[in-house]
Amino acid sequence: MIPIAKPLLGKEEINAVTEVLSSGMIAQGPKVEEFELAFSEYTGCEYAAAVNSGTAALHIALLAHGIGKGDEVITSPFSFIATANSILYTGAKPVFADIESDTYNIDPERIQEKITPKTRAILPVHLYGHPADMKAIMEIAEDDKLIVIEDACQSHGAACLGKRVGSFGTGAFSFYPTKNMTTSEGGMLTTDEKEIAEKAKMIRAHGSKVRYLHEMLGFNLRMTDIAAAIGLVQLGKLDGFTATRQKNAETLSAGLKIITEIAPPVIRADCTHVFHQYTIRAEKRDQLAAFLKEKEIGTGIHYPISIHKQPVYRELGYKDSLPVSEKATEEVLSLPVHPALSRTDLQEIVEAIKEFYAKE
Ligand SMILES: *Cc1c(COP(=O)(O)O)cnc(C)c1O
Repeated sequence: MIPIAKPLLGKEEINAVTEVLSSGMIAQGPKVEEFELAFSEYTGCEYAAAVNSGTAALHIALLAHGIGKGDEVITSPFSFIATANSILYTGAKPVFADIESDTYNIDPERIQEKITPKTRAILPVHLYGHPADMKAIMEIAEDDKLIVIEDACQSHGAACLGKRVGSFGTGAFSFYPTKNMTTSEGGMLTTDEKEIAEKAKMIRAHGSKVRYLHEMLGFNLRMTDIAAAIGLVQLGKLDGFTATRQKNAETLSAGLKIITEIAPPVIRADCTHVFHQYTIRAEKRDQLAAFLKEKEIGTGIHYPISIHKQPVYRELGYKDSLPVSEKATEEVLSLPVHPALSRTDLQEIVEAIKEFYAKE
């Protein structure tokens, strides 16, 4: 079976974890601080705050900006559910704006239509590793005095206009094992604002800077030094992983070019795509996925249901019609693109898809 995702962990990660375990300091400690510094430098941000998941990074980003009950946050309906849930956790209301049909990212024109006096923030997702249209989004935010929180959970190292994602507004990254780099579970908030970084660090530790003095309501959302040690090694390997993902994507696109029934991923001008997923669009998506499964090729549907149509959102009264997102849920199919693939794996994937369309 060629898996849809596979974390690449080696001796260096094992040694780094062993070192932390031997030190006896296994909760949040010096490794977390070292990882924060390295990650903020990598992203091009002044500050970073490590947490225990990408979901926590989004949640804390919203809380640190004071978003809560009575506020509206405009986001994408075509994402992992954590994006919108993080808004619900704060008491604010997620407002969905439809996506672009080629990048699958939130459409700036649709954002504009959703702005009300209650709108406090825009939360774009850099889906599959392709940056959202940050030029247009930052312009809207500036005109309407809105906060920008970037869901960069799939886009470590992606960039647009020469700037890395997570450095336009407040960034949230995930280090879940299937992501472009991992810490097992883990997440990171990035920001240029000192006050936001300080608040985030308080919220992750029960609202305290000084032990047993609690200035605000917080949570326990801390990262461990064990996770941070893995993260430091993985961050050092990230550019290599990304280059392999990009090369794999090129090989797939070159091989699939002649098949007119599928739309390969696009890369917008001025954008660096880090290919968290290599996602095609195909009308016969379900048949193709079943055929590839028979050929022992793993695929994924990211995502089969638009967030506004999920039972939990239906229950809350969401009745939006977001046709571009809804159509995408029926047609997208992610193919393996991760750095553990061999040349033969890539050839097998291309040949299997050609075989499927030859018999159609
Ligand atoms: C993975 C992911 C998250 C959540 O990250 P966790 O670390 O799993 O909590 C949020 N948004 C997107 C787009 C993701 O892909």
